[in-house]
Amino acid sequence: QNGDERAAKIPRYVRVNTSCWSTDEAVQTFISRGYSLSGPFEHSQGFAQDEHIPDLLLFPPDTQFTNDPLYLSGKIILQDKASCFPAYVLSPPAQQGSVVIDATAAPGNKTSHLSALMDNKGKLYAFERDRKRFGTLQMMLDKAKCKNVEPVNADFLTVSPDDQRFKNVTHILLDPSCSGSGIVNRLDHLLETENETKVEEETRLNKLAGFQLMMIKHAMKFPSVQRIVYSTCSIHATENEHVVQQALKSDEANEGHFELAPSEQVLPSWKRRGYPDEMDSPSDAASLLRCSPGDDATNGFFVSSFVRHTVESDEMPLESRK
Ligand code: SAM
Repeated sequence: QNGDERAAKIPRYVRVNTSCWSTDEAVQTFISRGYSLSGPFEHSQGFAQDEHIPDLLLFPPDTQFTNDPLYLSGKIILQDKASCFPAYVLSPPAQQGSVVIDATAAPGNKTSHLSALMDNKGKLYAFERDRKRFGTLQMMLDKAKCKNVEPVNADFLTVSPDDQRFKNVTHILLDPSCSGSGIVNRLDHLLETENETKVEEETRLNKLAGFQLMMIKHAMKFPSVQRIVYSTCSIHATENEHVVQQALKSDEANEGHFELAPSEQVLPSWKRRGYPDEMDSPSDAASLLRCSPGDDATNGFFVSSFVRHTVESDEMPLESRK
């Protein structure tokens, strides 16, 4: 399949921005425009609610929304299904006092998703190191009516985990720069890397993987963090399973007692999981999510979730119980 053929099979995904209105209200609005809930491939006015992500709607692939008042006002966000998984798997707490970090935020689709899942409560720090992309992030957060987000134009790796502002951070989303090899579009024949040799590709992916690992290890140093979601839009094990494996073996994971979240906590209804052959312990792959471009009607994507293992009092050695 070429990029055109793959793109034609991907519905136009629309995330309802629940910071502005409810999914029910959105569905009713589309019905009043003449749409029916008959699925995105039946006819040009058919649409559906997604079976995995509650606030996601599916429209026919050619549907245009870029001039639609609902898009221009931030009530709907055009976001691929797979890219909705990370915020949903992170499940940040929706309560006063919760503190969350989006470490690599621009253009801000996942930031506004996190903010909506938090009911616009608590505090969400959104870091972006690139100045220009930071400008885009600010515009996006304004448009999406995110009131609990503090955007920060800084490199996450320079943010001190000991800073008082971050001492209560419990959830971190890491969606760092990657090869983008999972992105399906109609221009994929124009990618600069087309003529790259195998060795050049390997060098580039290893460099990205080194950076991605550094980001996870840094996130593990935040004193109160309980859950870290790491995602990429890459299809390569080098940036996905291998990075996760290295992170699990790191001193930071050891000292912070981090392990992979059990598969029941990582969108269990999604069947495509990580590659068992790429993990030291093949059963760990069940905790990882993959999306395959061409097979899943999404872009290629990868999601992992690390949780801090806390020893419950009844599991504690007897001598340390008081
Ligand atoms: N999560 C975003 C979304 O869904 O809209 C997409 C993030 S994009 C894959 C990665 C972003 O991370 C880029 O904008 C890049 O400039 C930024 N970035 C890369 N390294 C960073 C770092 N060390 N600190 C902060 N931002 C970083």
